[in-house]
Amino acid sequence: MTKRAARRVAGVERSATVAMLETVQHLRASGASLVDLSRGEPDFTTPSGITEAAIHALRSGQTHYSPSRGLPGLRAAVAAKLAKDNGILVNPADGVIITPSAKHALYAALTALLDPGDEVVIPSPGWVSYAAMVSLAGATPVPLPLDPSSGFRISRDDLAAAITPNTRVLLVNSPNNPTGRVLDSAELEAVVSVARAHDLIVISDEIYEHLRYDGRSHLSPAAQLPENTLTVNGFSKGYAMTGWRLGYLAGPEDLISATLKVHEHSVSCAATFVQIAGEAALTGGTRAVVAMLTAYTRRRDLLVHGLNALPGITCAAPEGSFYAFPDIRATHLPDAAEFADWLLREAGVVTTPGSAFGPGGQGHVRLSFAAPEEELEDALVRIEKAQSRI
Ligand code: PMP
Ligand code: GLU
Repeated sequence: MTKRAARRVAGVERSATVAMLETVQHLRASGASLVDLSRGEPDFTTPSGITEAAIHALRSGQTHYSPSRGLPGLRAAVAAKLAKDNGILVNPADGVIITPSAKHALYAALTALLDPGDEVVIPSPGWVSYAAMVSLAGATPVPLPLDPSSGFRISRDDLAAAITPNTRVLLVNSPNNPTGRVLDSAELEAVVSVARAHDLIVISDEIYEHLRYDGRSHLSPAAQLPENTLTVNGFSKGYAMTGWRLGYLAGPEDLISATLKVHEHSVSCAATFVQIAGEAALTGGTRAVVAMLTAYTRRRDLLVHGLNALPGITCAAPEGSFYAFPDIRATHLPDAAEFADWLLREAGVVTTPGSAFGPGGQGHVRLSFAAPEEELEDALVRIEKAQSRI
């Protein structure tokens, strides 16, 4: 048979996180009793003021294409937010693109900026789609292994060792999926100085920005390296808007205009009424976001405390995101995929093996606490019972 998929597509796996969502649906449909802690999305519904803005937009006939860069009002709101919260100054006229999801912002930027042979340094563990997107763009992902014993911190030396003459882009993600780490000032300094020394483009994925604990600050590389940084953010996590598919990217005019070509020729624009809802989210105050953060904080404490009480499991408190990423190397199954599989079969608890996030995630599993406290308690009891049967 003639080949039916391009080599760069055939070599890419399906998204482990998206595939897991489907597996859970199938298992539940066949009657399995599961606690699903693999979900990478808030369990909350979108705050009502945002939904009302979309309904109003639809009723008033906002059913047409928007400019491909996005509605001017939302671009202005994004530029104002970046200036106020992140110290990033961009021109809303030519420095911002509104995209249907942060995922598409990342994909469009990587496709626009990479040539075959180019390398992209991706911290490992790192979100499942980064390496796939780089491969789909025809370039080469290069894992930057992070050391669990240092709390998965990025060091200047490790970073410098991953750079070759072919490196073009350095990807950073803070707060981090799956480790829950928040970039500190020493790591930021390492990222900025290495990028500056090698004239690299930094793509900074800040989708979990609103989800930080214990008063940690959020640091954006673009505030220090504006000429070389693309900042990606969106509405899915902080505003509980995963199903709306709305994100954005911001940065220097030349990188934005290259990315605009990919965006415009692939999707034209994000849905117009969804963009109006996004503007309502950015301008409507932070009460709902803060209320969700309060709930996540309680859940984090409950889950981390419970995990640390289980034999062989050690869990550092995540500084951000809604993921716990315990070390399971001292359990009876130190391999991440085997342990996650055992949790599913013996405890009915769905998690994501750390190895799905690259070689650096081995020996860990990801548990999402975007789930009600009762479900987290149920999961802990189930794991304890399964461990007592070994
Ligand atoms: N980056 C990271 C690290 C994520 O976990 C996600 C979640 N899907 C995204 C980007 C994309 O978010 P979305 O496409 O829903 O805006
Ligand atoms: N980002 C989430 C996760 O890591 C949602 C699924 C996805 O798009 O990867 O689980």
